[in-house]
Amino acid sequence: MDNAVKDNLKKIFGFNQFRGNQQLIVDNILKGNNTFVIMPTGAGKSLCYQLPAVSKEGTAIVISPLIALMKNQVDQLNSFGINAHFLNSTLSKSESNRVKSEVSAGLTKLLYVAPESLTKEENIQFLKNATISFVAIDEAHCISEWGHDFRPEYRKIKSIISQIGDNLPVIALTATATPKVQQDIQRNLQMEEADLFKSSFNRTNLYYEVRPKLKNDTKKEIIKYIKSQKGKSGIIYCLSRKKVAEIAELLQVNGIKAAPYHAGLDGHVRIKNQDDFLNEEVDVIVATIAFGMGIDKPDVRYVIHYDVPKSLEGYYQETGRAGRDGLEGHCLMFYRYEDILKLEKFNKDKPVNERENSKVLLQEMAAYAESSVCRRRFLLHYFGETLDKDCGFCDNCKKTKETFDGKEDLLTVITA
Ligand code: ADP
Ligand code: MG
Repeated sequence: MDNAVKDNLKKIFGFNQFRGNQQLIVDNILKGNNTFVIMPTGAGKSLCYQLPAVSKEGTAIVISPLIALMKNQVDQLNSFGINAHFLNSTLSKSESNRVKSEVSAGLTKLLYVAPESLTKEENIQFLKNATISFVAIDEAHCISEWGHDFRPEYRKIKSIISQIGDNLPVIALTATATPKVQQDIQRNLQMEEADLFKSSFNRTNLYYEVRPKLKNDTKKEIIKYIKSQKGKSGIIYCLSRKKVAEIAELLQVNGIKAAPYHAGLDGHVRIKNQDDFLNEEVDVIVATIAFGMGIDKPDVRYVIHYDVPKSLEGYYQETGRAGRDGLEGHCLMFYRYEDILKLEKFNKDKPVNERENSKVLLQEMAAYAESSVCRRRFLLHYFGETLDKDCGFCDNCKKTKETFDGKEDLLTVITA
């Protein structure tokens, strides 16, 4: 690798070294190769395209699904002294014209674009005439109906890229590692030949546990649990906004510093609650899955699922928000089969194939929750990885050990 690139890692981004596959990936992108990156959340996918974008001539297009995330990333890049902009529906005509003039002048290194903006004819025409270094597709699982947030506009990306330029290198990045999603992405982007960089999804510092969900007892159990984790940060995921409000209030009346988060709250309330959690004014955020994407709080010590998630990918993503700092995180799910049936009912108005997909995903979720094998083995198997031995760090492993130890004790008693 070019020394100048390594210098930029330190000088611009402030990192002393690459993590995991980052260096190999950056190298591959610098060579102009199509690249497919599968890396868990928090592992550092952004740097994989940001660093080559800075080092290459022209503007890199970054396709990203969430406007809020886009702004965060652009603000951060600007604070590093990198010329980066975004193009999405929040910009006025004059603002987007200003962005475009910077791109035309060849000043912009990274241009974040929402898929909705990318499909606009005027933007396609504009990008056609700009100097583009490569196209990065972040959160590429949005392409797949098997992914946890399918976005139909993502399926149009490939044809738009072909219109923007011939043979533009494409980098697809995702934290969803299921073989099904991977195949879907590669097929849709016509990048079966791309170089694949897949990291392990094993989060060794996370303890996985499933407990039965019982009507009132579970709420009491959660209160007790949180009180035993005094001053530590945690997230509780619920399915509905109503449940979020209910649990948040229940915690508050029990003297726990908790705040709700869901898409139905006023924008400013939502931001305040999120900030309060990040700044540790509150210990617990009770949320729907609207909470979490792009939130980087390193010391979340537990993630509780009050309701079962819709898929194992969702579960992995949500639990993955615990223990980002590498210290222990507890992933505790409350489960009852009725919740699976309830979720299946929600799907009944969906088109047939979507309904079928959702059903399979839910059944896999149920299988995980009801399984008595090592949870980590189960989860990693789902992502196409195999563990050599049971992890010893989940409820099922612990139970096996306890039963085993128990038998040993019994044996001592009998032989004594
Ligand atoms: P992802 O997109 O894979 O979820 P991000 O790109 O948001 O992850 O990065 C997660 C965190 O890791 C960020 O805080 C980022 O600054 C940090 N990070 C990325 N690369 C490195 C590195 N080489 N050394 C140290 N920290 C890094
Ligand atoms: Mg990311």
